[in-house]
Amino acid sequence: MKNPTQNIVIAIDGHSSCGKSTLAKRLSKKLNYLYVDTGAMYRCITLLMQEQNLQINQSKEIEDLLHNTKIYFKQKDNIQLTFINGREVTEDIRLPKISDFVSEVSTISAVRKRLVEQQRQYLQENNLVMDGRDIGTVVFPAAQLKIFLTASSEIRAKRRYDELQAKGIDIDYNSVLANLIKRDTIDSTRSDSPLKKAGDAIELDNTNMSIDQMVDHVILLLKESKFS
Ligand code: C5P
Repeated sequence: MKNPTQNIVIAIDGHSSCGKSTLAKRLSKKLNYLYVDTGAMYRCITLLMQEQNLQINQSKEIEDLLHNTKIYFKQKDNIQLTFINGREVTEDIRLPKISDFVSEVSTISAVRKRLVEQQRQYLQENNLVMDGRDIGTVVFPAAQLKIFLTASSEIRAKRRYDELQAKGIDIDYNSVLANLIKRDTIDSTRSDSPLKKAGDAIELDNTNMSIDQMVDHVILLLKESKFS
């Protein structure tokens, strides 16, 4: 399948907390591409489902919720803010109670269908850096550059733990590690759009790489490709 426009997509997939969004944000700034954080979109639906006390088998109510929900991003002073129907939820969607439930919500096909439609629309008017779990396999199988990012579970948990501590969220390292492992398992084994490396993705293990090294490496890959 060809991309419907000439616009360029850099697809970044990988397990939880392996640095996808850090890489995507840096690339989007360097290249002036739009950054779309698809995980934030699944987190928004999770937040609403929790607030409305919806269970994952309540198909009708979930359809209604999807129909009535507009998720969008706005850039403010170098930070990307996330909104649901005019309400800012940037921090709320990062809370551990959302991380605990988001992978279950992401198994719901109706949710995936709706969010993938929205994700594809961004390409109509923008070059994109998009990160998630199914970007190179399902959302944009014809993306010009696909990166599959990996890092050891322990380093991923440590990075996530440090991030949460810096925000003043009190949680212990073992709970963070357990959540990552649980999410990785659900994300990789679900029947609809499981997390897996696309055949033509380039795997990049950043366990022993600094952020600058990782970004420079991907810029080099882009330059080597004929799309830069
Ligand atoms: O990227 P982040 O960790 O914020 O994603 C939260 C969750 O959203 C993932 O664990 C996964 O269950 C789901 N997700 C997904 N497909 C995507 C992006 C995220 O299923 N493209």
